Amino acid sequence: MTDQTAASSRPVISIVAPVYNEEAILHELYKRVSETMETLGEPWELVLINDGSWDRSYEIMLELHEQDSRVHIVNFSRNFGHQIAITAGMDYAQGQAVVIIDADLQDPPSVILDMVAKWKEGYEVVYAVRAQRKGETKFKLWTAKLFYRLINKITGVNIPLDTGDFRLLDRKAVDALRRIREHHRFMRGLSVWIGFKQTGVEYVREERFAGETKYPLSKMLRFAMDGITSFSYLPLQFATYIGFIIAGLSVLGIILTIILRLSGSHAFEGQATTLVMVLFLGGIQLISLGVIGEYLGRIYDEVKNRPLYIVNEAVGFEQRDAGPTHP
Ligand code: UDP
Ligand code: MG
Repeated sequence: MTDQTAASSRPVISIVAPVYNEEAILHELYKRVSETMETLGEPWELVLINDGSWDRSYEIMLELHEQDSRVHIVNFSRNFGHQIAITAGMDYAQGQAVVIIDADLQDPPSVILDMVAKWKEGYEVVYAVRAQRKGETKFKLWTAKLFYRLINKITGVNIPLDTGDFRLLDRKAVDALRRIREHHRFMRGLSVWIGFKQTGVEYVREERFAGETKYPLSKMLRFAMDGITSFSYLPLQFATYIGFIIAGLSVLGIILTIILRLSGSHAFEGQATTLVMVLFLGGIQLISLGVIGEYLGRIYDEVKNRPLYIVNEAVGFEQRDAGPTHP
């Protein structure tokens, strides 16, 4: 269907979409991406990462690849998670610019045109800012808002508000990100951390085209913890702060109790006070241990130094000059 020249020449723009059980969406995704890219007129490729889907997603991907050799597939051996899938997409993408996009069409492919325009102006990272979000629950909107304000307060990186992973990255930015091989990856933070000239384009985040969100609350919480722990030590320092506050308060308490005793008052007698204080401190100590555990577990994951993902098949990358490397 497509001309051979497009297939053999190196793509200028790579569109990377992570896919986890999106059989109802893939045809439409291909249609919209190819329509958009045709208007642009640059050679392109669509890199689909199959993140361990157990529906027909992979078969549909293979069909799309048969139809159009610009569709390339990285098939994971199991589900490794959204952020890892994006990373694999960047490892395999060959374009001079790489666009990360959700497969569910919440990020409209037409926005890529605005991103490419900014890229051609000389920006190396062009992130998409959600001017409006359709079809999201109040809870998700509220928690997301709270989370990004919190993370910007407590971490050194300033993640632009209301952005997700939908963004265009210049080859230089992609290569910089590829050098970061940490396991608990928070890509939207890392893509700020790398620096370079950055700008945003606004867009309306649509409703999911079909299917259900693949981010239940538990995954969202883990994602949030990864974001905080990979950019901030503040939770670890909490124990120190609370320790100082409580130690200070207890000195005051000791002085107060002595004064009350000397003046003949019996206000602080009884076990209830002691019990409550012991439980309170026990609680704080357990929370502090848990916080240390969060960091320790992540350190352990890094030390094990396992590969970030295992690829079962990579389809359509035969013509690469070099395979994906893990710098
Ligand atoms: N996704 C993935 N692996 C996962 C979970 C999600 O590759 O373990 C993909 C999913 O197919 C979609 C994108 O990540 O293309 C964003 O997921 P989703 O739309 O479910 O998240 P939401 O938009 O609800 O936050
Ligand atoms: Mg979505």
